Amino acid sequence: MNRGSILVVEDESKIAEIVRAYLEKDNFNVTVAETGREAISALKQGFDLIILDLMLPDMDGEDICRTIRNDSDIPIIMLTAKSEEDDRIKGLGMGADDYVVKPFSPRELVARVKSLLRRVKGSKKSISFNNGDLVIDSSSFEIRKRGSPAVLTPTEFKLLQCLAEHPGQVFTRLQLINVILGYDFEGYDRTIDAHIKNIRRKIEDNQKKPSYLKTVYGVGYKFTGQPDED
Ligand code: CA
Repeated sequence: MNRGSILVVEDESKIAEIVRAYLEKDNFNVTVAETGREAISALKQGFDLIILDLMLPDMDGEDICRTIRNDSDIPIIMLTAKSEEDDRIKGLGMGADDYVVKPFSPRELVARVKSLLRRVKGSKKSISFNNGDLVIDSSSFEIRKRGSPAVLTPTEFKLLQCLAEHPGQVFTRLQLINVILGYDFEGYDRTIDAHIKNIRRKIEDNQKKPSYLKTVYGVGYKFTGQPDED
């Protein structure tokens, strides 16, 4: 299984080859560019993610980052030897999505690559159900019901998003509490019920006969919308 293609921009061939080896072991396709110019021309091939060294012989990683950001939202992980906090912030400020400080563990870098790809995939997703009746846009945190925006609170959004990403799967109230709070909290069951009731009011045509958020008696809730084809 190919997990995606990665452009590694790094002039130190030793580092580049280690990174390549680790990524390839994890089934990524890897292309290495040694200079900024090479990187920018390689970009036309289309990659899923870029690992970009901040210090390159011909161009500054910052400039490359800005150039890339001018016309692409490809995920970028910056490799930097500078560990000062303001450099990190600067790295993210110029459009990198994450940064890894040298010396780094290749395993850690691969983990960051995977997590960033997951994040991007998750956040870009706009999912639509029942022939466009309900649209959940996770990048803009917007819900559209029959084309009109439905205003959900962040908690309601999180709950609906979680349920809708797993159509048909039953979630217990405790699991849903975990989704919104990040940890288990006993005695919160009724809060979930209240949130679900609010979401239903906003997205269901008939709250008594919901077509999206069904109660599974004695267990919890499940999402029953039909995902539309892309
Ligand atoms: Ca370098």
